[in-house]
This record gives sequence, structure tokens and C-alpha cells, in this order.
Amino acid sequence: MDNQQLKDPNNPSGPVQTKGKYKVWVDRNLCIGAATCVAVSPKSFQLDNEAKAVIVRTIDEEELENIIEAAKACPVAAIFIEDEKGNRIFPK
Ligand code: SF4
Repeated sequence: MDNQQLKDPNNPSGPVQTKGKYKVWVDRNLCIGAATCVAVSPKSFQLDNEAKAVIVRTIDEEELENIIEAAKACPVAAIFIEDEKGNRIFPK
């Protein structure tokens, strides 16, 4: 995992802004490195060398539905998504 691939090298696990309107982040304290999110949306999530999920640049190419699917698939609900108004998309 190289820093160049990160959406925001200063905030590897977010929050990041994607598609100009959605805010996505991973709570690193909750993440247990199960990598389910990586399996569902490798364009959005990868594991770093601490086995915590980080957000990669290609999240901008990913459909919102797949980002939500990845968040739903996380066994510890460590992935958060909000819309441009700060309304929580997932988890509700
Ligand atoms: S699925 Fe959840 S626990 Fe697993 S790596 Fe992704 S964010 Fe972490």
C-alpha cells in the first residue's frame, strides 16, 4: 500500500470527500481488519500495514451503492457515509 494510492495521504482512513458530495470515513478504533470492505469495494478500501482500512483514490470511480454495500458488509460497522448536507447515509 503506497501513499500515492490514498485519497488523502493526511487522512488515510478519512474523512474524505468523494464525487464532490459524499463524506466517507473509517473509524480505525472499530476496524478489526476483516477486509470485507476490500472484498466488496477494492476501488474504495484497502488495508494498510496496521491492518486498518484506508480509503484509496479510485473511490471516486466507485458507485455510491457499492460503497454503501461495503459499509453494510463491515462486521463492526466501522465505515460511515454522509451526504453533502451532513445527513447520515450509513449506518442510519
Ligand atoms: S470490513 Fe470493517 S473491519 Fe473489516 S477492514 Fe473494512 S472497515 Fe475494517
